[in-house]
Amino acid sequence: MRDRLARRRSRWWILALVAWAAWGADWRTPPPGEGPEAVPVRRLDGAPYVGVNDLARLLDATKFWRADVRKLVLRSGPHSIVLTADNPFAIVDNTTIWLGAPVRSLGGELQVPAALVDTLPADSTLARLIFDPRGDRVLVLPASGGVGSPRLTVAAQVTRLTFPADHPEAAVVAARARAHFRVRMGGLFLGVLPESLPSGSLLRSIRTIPAAGGSAFECAIDPAAVGYRMTQDPASRRVTLEWSRAEGDLDEFAPEGPAGARPMRVIVLDPGHGGADLGVTAGRAVEKKLALSLALLLRPELERRLHARVVLTRADDRTVSADARAEVANRSRADLVLSLHFDGYVDARARGATALCPPATLGAEQAGARNHGRFAADDAGPGRVAMLRWRDVAFRHAVESRALAEAVLSTIELKGQGPTRLRERLPYGLLGVNAPGILLECATLTAPSDRERVLQEEGLRQLAVSIAEGVAAYRRNE
Ligand SMILES: [Zn+2]
Repeated sequence: MRDRLARRRSRWWILALVAWAAWGADWRTPPPGEGPEAVPVRRLDGAPYVGVNDLARLLDATKFWRADVRKLVLRSGPHSIVLTADNPFAIVDNTTIWLGAPVRSLGGELQVPAALVDTLPADSTLARLIFDPRGDRVLVLPASGGVGSPRLTVAAQVTRLTFPADHPEAAVVAARARAHFRVRMGGLFLGVLPESLPSGSLLRSIRTIPAAGGSAFECAIDPAAVGYRMTQDPASRRVTLEWSRAEGDLDEFAPEGPAGARPMRVIVLDPGHGGADLGVTAGRAVEKKLALSLALLLRPELERRLHARVVLTRADDRTVSADARAEVANRSRADLVLSLHFDGYVDARARGATALCPPATLGAEQAGARNHGRFAADDAGPGRVAMLRWRDVAFRHAVESRALAEAVLSTIELKGQGPTRLRERLPYGLLGVNAPGILLECATLTAPSDRERVLQEEGLRQLAVSIAEGVAAYRRNE
């Protein structure tokens, strides 16, 4: 019987529960309304109990009471649970389960030891319940599953952190700076994080951070790490993060500029397209309109958070040339330029947001140009602000632009408005702009879910909030 139960429950849930009890770390309580469905647990003589009415509700079960033998049968789909008042055994699908304490009757309702929930069959016909001893509640594991306590292993060159996860394929690295390395996971975090890290660990600290529709972690990585790798293994239901001191087949960290807050007096918002140029159209969505609406929502969010002056390259529906856009940015001495666009793909499955920023690595020919100090302005026409050579300008601001892209994409990803991608390619819209800047394809209009979200004022406003928070994080240079 025990073997069968052990097979039915994945082993790490039990480890997670043991870890809770042993380590005493805080349960991560989801904000009200966003968390999983849960019911309270009460203590009777020190043992945790859940009311049978609550239990039946969570399991979507029907109750049958037999007063003569004081038995209650819960039926849900093909499963049955038989409980008897004052009896410490339950019968789950013909298997007898020792509950550790008797079922009790309190005010006419049976109270069931919470230990029962961890013995229930784990199949798609029954909600998966988890007993959370620290929160004193029993909760339903959402469809996105769970993420368990990570295991840390420290070797000479490599530090590994392995998370058990129901959906490893949903994991994504949301920010790649060493100081703020962020990973987003699908599923609810049910584990505990290591409270102290061994010496020699390239992982210096780890904490949970809020994420919509999943869980997320922010790590600080030792400067000695030269790269990282994330491995998602659906077969073993694991996500492994590795940080290494040795070069190899690794992903790069985000480049790091000078420490300290960045000055941010003027921000230029550049809503893409306009006038005769509609941009992407899909269903009711027209890119030029959405880009302008988003810029108008983003302006007050930025002003409020950053106390910066926000300048728009267009505030109504008109045609603006690329040169004129760059001129607005350069004339207003922008500290930052955000070009706002929306994507469209032939493939209806494509969705999410993409940031384009100038390549941070120089080709040989381009590096040569820089070494020769050719940061000269192109010939400017009469009355025009000088347009700098776009390549030179792009290189000058490439590292900062990349940091901006990382910060903005990270907040978009964590708020569930992704998936996000970063492309190192100088966007046409930023040619000649003498400031750090990115072109943001804020959502994909050909994806029905993205389109419906941004066509609603609240969806577009939430996107503006994410972008503004990303810009604020960039300014703080966290
Ligand atoms: Zn566009």
